Amino acid sequence: MRPALADLTTLRLGGPAGRLLEASEEDAIVAAVRAADAAGESLLVMSGGSNLVVADAGFPGTVLRIASRGVRVDSNRLEVAAGEPWDPFVARCVAEGRAGIECLSGIPGSVGATPIQNVGAYGQEVSDSIVSVRAYDRARDRVEEIPAADCGFTYRSSAFKRNPGRWVVLAVTFALPRRPHSEPIRYAELARALGIAEGETAPLPDVRGAVLVLRRGKGMVIDPADPDSVSAGSFFTNPVLDAEAFAALEERARARLGADVRVPRFPQPDGSVKTSAAWLIERAGFTRGHGDPATVAISGKHTLALTNRGAGTTEQLVALAREIAAGVRGAFGVELQPEPVFVGHCW
Ligand SMILES: Cc1cc2nc3c(=O)[nH]c(=O)nc-3n(C[C@H](O)[C@H](O)[C@H](O)COP(=O)(O)OP(=O)(O)OC[C@H]3O[C@@H](n4cnc5c(N)ncnc54)[C@H](O)[C@@H]3O)c2cc1C
Repeated sequence: MRPALADLTTLRLGGPAGRLLEASEEDAIVAAVRAADAAGESLLVMSGGSNLVVADAGFPGTVLRIASRGVRVDSNRLEVAAGEPWDPFVARCVAEGRAGIECLSGIPGSVGATPIQNVGAYGQEVSDSIVSVRAYDRARDRVEEIPAADCGFTYRSSAFKRNPGRWVVLAVTFALPRRPHSEPIRYAELARALGIAEGETAPLPDVRGAVLVLRRGKGMVIDPADPDSVSAGSFFTNPVLDAEAFAALEERARARLGADVRVPRFPQPDGSVKTSAAWLIERAGFTRGHGDPATVAISGKHTLALTNRGAGTTEQLVALAREIAAGVRGAFGVELQPEPVFVGHCW
């Protein structure tokens, strides 16, 4: 029987894989990719399955699960194998008093996937700490050490995400200096939870603890006992609008919600403005739990997470996502973009 990808994704959705391979050494990963390419097979590289929306029909080609392990430490630099689970690595760094990724506690998945969408949360992004990414470039058939400056990191994206499938990440090198205190906290909700002002620092274990509490409250820590965590995390990215588009959004929001409404705004260095997808979804009329309690629904704890309630299908999940995106478009003229990677179907 062909292996079901639903068993390998946090959404517990997705049909069968044509063939499933697992590789736990760099050489074996590269060899498996080369063999698939030489045979002209389509290839899906994955690890934790926490950012995938796989079609009900599955993926007919080869699925390669990255399962490499190992952390090499050289002073402040840590070179981590792609298959290392992310959160245990964060826990280790916090325990060792290494600052830089403490706000990224509780995020599921693998180290090797973090550069793909420049994983971020609570004011930190992995690109703040990544020195380089070692990857197999399928276009050039060679292993390269890519400096962070060449990874094209942007909000929830990178050169890897913009060129799907081209690079297979083998290892990531981070610079994580030994310091008992966190980076300055740049996220108001986290600063409040820590009882400090934005811009202040806190002991690393306190930051990790506070982040985990906040995340659990939103169903954003994978927990078999929490049906709201059967998701792919945030389903939509926060829209980044140019000044004109943001002004148009404000105008529509005032017309719809009243003259004194304040649209969330996070000005970006390039003059654009990031706004809140959750705010738009809620103000467009979608409440937590919206959907069908037996199949697919918005999480009961977090507007941005779409969940499989047990009997859902990918088709139903994507239909719910499209309903939400159409509602936001109709109410505010803003186009929401999905954050997870779609496999075997398109947005
Ligand atoms: C409950 C929950 C909370 C989450 N919270 C956050 C959050 O706060 N912030 C955030 O940014 N994300 C979050 N996510 C999304 C997800 O956890 C991250 O994107 C994570 O990095 C994905 O890792 P993974 O190993 O599961 O990748 P997978 O889902 O297996 O793969 C995701 C993508 O990365 C590619 N990929 C994976 N490994 C490699 C590799 N070695 N080389 C090349 N490509 C690879 C895959 O092809 C695919 O395109 C959350 C998800 C869930 C379920």
